[in-house]
Amino acid sequence: MNEILPSVAFHTLGCKLNFSESSALSRQLETQGFPKKAFEEAADVYVLNTCSVTENADKECRMLVRRIQRRAPEALVVVTGCYAQLKPQEIIAIPGVDLVLGAAEKFQLSAHLRTLSKGAARVACNEIGAVEGFHAAHSEGDRTRTFLKVQDGCDYTCSFCTIPQARGHSRSDTVANVVDRVQQIAETGAKEVVLTGINLGDFGKGTEGGKRREENFYELIEQLDGLSGIERYRISSIEPNLLTDEIIRFVASSKRFMPHFHIPLQSGSNAILASMRRRYRRELYAERIETIKTLMPHAGIGADVIVGFPSESEVHFQETYEFLNSLPVSYLHVFTYSERANTDALAIRPVVPVPVRHDRNKALRVLSLEKQTAFAASFSGTERPVLWEKSSKGGIMHGYTDNYIAAETLYDPAKAGTIERWRL
Ligand code: SF4
Repeated sequence: MNEILPSVAFHTLGCKLNFSESSALSRQLETQGFPKKAFEEAADVYVLNTCSVTENADKECRMLVRRIQRRAPEALVVVTGCYAQLKPQEIIAIPGVDLVLGAAEKFQLSAHLRTLSKGAARVACNEIGAVEGFHAAHSEGDRTRTFLKVQDGCDYTCSFCTIPQARGHSRSDTVANVVDRVQQIAETGAKEVVLTGINLGDFGKGTEGGKRREENFYELIEQLDGLSGIERYRISSIEPNLLTDEIIRFVASSKRFMPHFHIPLQSGSNAILASMRRRYRRELYAERIETIKTLMPHAGIGADVIVGFPSESEVHFQETYEFLNSLPVSYLHVFTYSERANTDALAIRPVVPVPVRHDRNKALRVLSLEKQTAFAASFSGTERPVLWEKSSKGGIMHGYTDNYIAAETLYDPAKAGTIERWRL
């Protein structure tokens, strides 16, 4: 007799890595016969894949559990992801949560679902130090663009960050496995692969069969570039100290790696960078940007920045503002510092008042908008290749140029999933 398996719906918070893992877990369940549901639909089980970087992760989690309970009081609720690894006891205490799965246990989701029942809430979460092995994952959205996880965890010790506690030490897939995966992805018709990781430039670290791995990120991109099938690659985000001239030169000479970089800066003040325990100074960051722009004047460059880090004075903030203003970066992702348990930044004084943090955030968002607009305007009237995505929203289709300028046009099914030279 066939086993009757519960239907499962996912809801994902946070980064592209989380999305690719949810996508991979959901596909794995589907192939095993668990019916797949959208989060808005009635399902037997709801899985929340959480994030620890999200401000108010706990509030968001509680709110989602309440929403599920109102809609489907009989449904089972599973919480996993970074927040689950960091605060399993806090989460299991939320009324309505039936299972909390830690960083390693989430990959055994299907086994847990077979034994899950209402009224027997439990936590399956090991110490993060015990987390070993790499679990590959990729997203399958509208199948034009795929986020492929090639690395996980981080060995750095940035003083504000909980990711190493939530995801463990740095480990990654092998070049050979990634090549195989990319070939499989190409068979699904995807045109673009975004290489994703927590500390992507650290790719190749770790041990395999007791031996130290000796691969690196440069070798990975070199191998991928030689494959046919995928027309575009992007590097999701790479630490400035790991973005070598060799990698930049390679991207400049490649037809498949897009002229688009996302490079976390976090602060434009060397004093704050040191307190954050980042592994570079602003001079190195500026040098990287200059190399990129010399070799690829058309490159799109994004930067992450945190405002309101403890001890960030008005002078430090102005340094950051002026530094970013002077650099040819094309957009910013601005984060407001918020206190995280078990991080060294908690001990740094003076704390920046919350309203000041918000003012600084706003100032940098305005700067980001100005930069983004100026960057896009500088290509106005020129042609760039756009990959049109397959989905349509209100009769409009969207796409990105090689250098990451968003484009849109009236939906035309013949264009979906194709690359077209497009006048901006
Ligand atoms: S590099 Fe720093 S900020 Fe990024 S994940 Fe590692 S510890 Fe966190």
